[in-house]
Amino acid sequence: MVQEILPGIYRIKVLLPRSPLEATNSYLIKSRERNLLVDTGWNREESRKALFDGLAALDVVLEETDILLTHLHADHSGLTGAVATEKSKIYCSRIDSEIVNAMAGATYWPDIGVMFGAHGFPAEDLVQAMRSHPGRRYCTRKPQVFTTLSEGDVVEVGDYRFTCVETPGHTPGQVCLYEPKHKILFSGDHILDDITPNITFEKYIEDPLGHYLKSLDKIDRLDISLVLTGHKRLIDDIHKRIGELKQHHQDRLGEVLGILRSGQMDAYQVAGQMTWDIDAESWDLFPLAQKVFAVGEAATHLEHLQHTGRVKRIETNGKMFYELTKAL
Ligand SMILES: [Zn+2]
Repeated sequence: MVQEILPGIYRIKVLLPRSPLEATNSYLIKSRERNLLVDTGWNREESRKALFDGLAALDVVLEETDILLTHLHADHSGLTGAVATEKSKIYCSRIDSEIVNAMAGATYWPDIGVMFGAHGFPAEDLVQAMRSHPGRRYCTRKPQVFTTLSEGDVVEVGDYRFTCVETPGHTPGQVCLYEPKHKILFSGDHILDDITPNITFEKYIEDPLGHYLKSLDKIDRLDISLVLTGHKRLIDDIHKRIGELKQHHQDRLGEVLGILRSGQMDAYQVAGQMTWDIDAESWDLFPLAQKVFAVGEAATHLEHLQHTGRVKRIETNGKMFYELTKAL
């Protein structure tokens, strides 16, 4: 479960039971002064045990360890409260740290439910969908005090000097860590192999897919020989992977435009007609939590088409619908 990737940089596979992601890649960077833990895992027992077993195998003293969250999602932030001591700094971007603390509060999930309701998610399924959402079930429970990370900030650990690169898209405040001397990048979920990072539909950011595509271009300009991803395999050829991810979203945008040829629809209806790589025989049989991700994905693509003028958004009685612009 623990593997040394580079001198002093270890990957700990933190199990995510019953998730198609299987595990979060947490990274521990050891140094004689302070260690840095990049990302944690879900706040549930199996994940906690995997992370703490890994830290114990590396003889990590938690009081000498700081934490850095690449983004807000519970599979990265969930165990922050379990690992952090009073001496630990917890690094995260401003917006994502605010959402991490909001997720444990009373209004965040009902607000998300209202937003998905406006995009066509049936009211009778919404309460259960929000209740079963892993982000809600496995988030860190008590609000944390964060050290805010912004573009260009440097975090030094032993021989490594990591520069924060803001890459909004997967979440509003997703950051990558770039180490120019060793040409490595901690990508969080901005760039993954094997799977396509989903683009979270959030009210805090307009056109998240547009931001995501720009963030891919930003990383494409860096000299990188190894990407330490947030899940699954590490990546050698980042430029090839970025090309694949961009193509994937172009294909998705084309698919959504094709679906809208049948007329005005909401994001829920569009999601029901998109193709999904999931173990369910039909849209009606999708687990509710997966439906939330799917509708979010449809909505981020519709919003991007709206921002680039190919689709019109129509609001009727608080409900959002989309249709092709006349120019098409
Ligand atoms: Zn993740």
